[in-house]
Amino acid sequence: MKQITLLGATGSIGIQTLEVIRLHPDHFSVYALAFGKNIEKALPLIKEFSPKIVVVQDKTIKKQVESEFPDIQVLLGTEGMIAASTAADVDVLVNAVMGSVGLPATLAAIEAQKVIAIANKETLVTAGHLVMEAAYRYNVDLLPVDSEHSAIFQSLNGEKPDTIERLVLTASGGSFRDKTREELKGVTVEDALNHPNWSMGAKITVDSASMMNKGLEVIEAHWLFHIPYEQIDVILHRESVIHSMVEYKDRSVIAQLGTPDMKVPIQYALTYPDRLDLSMTKRLNLEEIATLHFQPMDYERFRCLKLAYQAGKEGGSMTTVLNAANEQAVELFLNGKISFLDIETLIEQALESHQTIAKPDLETIIAIDQETRSQVCSYLK
Ligand code: NDP
Ligand code: MG
Repeated sequence: MKQITLLGATGSIGIQTLEVIRLHPDHFSVYALAFGKNIEKALPLIKEFSPKIVVVQDKTIKKQVESEFPDIQVLLGTEGMIAASTAADVDVLVNAVMGSVGLPATLAAIEAQKVIAIANKETLVTAGHLVMEAAYRYNVDLLPVDSEHSAIFQSLNGEKPDTIERLVLTASGGSFRDKTREELKGVTVEDALNHPNWSMGAKITVDSASMMNKGLEVIEAHWLFHIPYEQIDVILHRESVIHSMVEYKDRSVIAQLGTPDMKVPIQYALTYPDRLDLSMTKRLNLEEIATLHFQPMDYERFRCLKLAYQAGKEGGSMTTVLNAANEQAVELFLNGKISFLDIETLIEQALESHQTIAKPDLETIIAIDQETRSQVCSYLK
């Protein structure tokens, strides 16, 4: 029986993680649940899974949870997420919060030698060097939840890095894959949130539309698999059937396929190195799909992807800036303050004005993250 701490329980990945846990009561139990502000969604989950610890984002919500569940310990904010992730009884941390706010808990859980199922890609983009160094030092498994990285992880199957020619990440293209740059000028928040293949949280859905999601994933892949950026490619694949692939030096290409359902990579991260049934997910029917399409990426059309490669190759604190500027810009877009194309302009401005620090420590990363967010907001004034 694995005891799980789940950060981001009320989110898209959080809810699907709980669906997987519900399917296998003999294998998994919930030790702690953390969420932000969505108390309506959280209360029934706390009732159903009766965790030992609940972590919330603000004091009013803390009081509400305490009055409903007097026997459950309720903790607050980042300190609370760290305590819930490092408790002695926890076996696995599923980090599914949105944004760089998930970083301190990931690092603390690594130091406490927990297995980490990582959905929170912003953690790796903002501080990949710290996370990977810690994972190496404490000999901890960092298991990918992101579907592309789960596909690569499964396709790698323990092969040596020097046998790899390249990693190929597939991209569905997001909500605006058929629009020209001219057509992108008038798009609304509602249009952006209408993803053709996947149902996800608002921020990552906008990231998919801007292709920044793929950019963040390239950086995530660089850190998780220790592969240089020159050996990571992206290909447009509308059907999201091939979730990503590895090309080896002997020209063999190994890919992982399946219907687009996040429960598959979530469950694999929880069961690794074993596999369990997941009969609620539709089987892949290639005869029904009949044709798969592939197109080269257009880096001028999808400028955010180009910016991500540039920031990744520059390295150091540049990816911290990329991530923070993107988080802030997407929030402004979702709140109706800026247009869709302003997202990339704001990110570009933030990157251009930053002097790279080669190996920033956690304190520096948190400071740069905050500065970048205020800077992006100040460009608006
Ligand atoms: P959602 O927006 O659906 O959920 C985010 C979760 O994080 C919610 O539970 C939210 O709580 C919580 N949260 C947000 N801010 C804070 C905070 N400051 N403190 C504590 N909790 C917080 O996001 P997704 O589930 O879509 O994505 C989560 C992560 O997984 C992201 O990093 C994303 O890139 C990654 N991912 C998601 C995929 C998907 O299919 N959705 C696919 C691959 C990766 P509340 O709502 O209660 O405020
Ligand atoms: Mg993905």
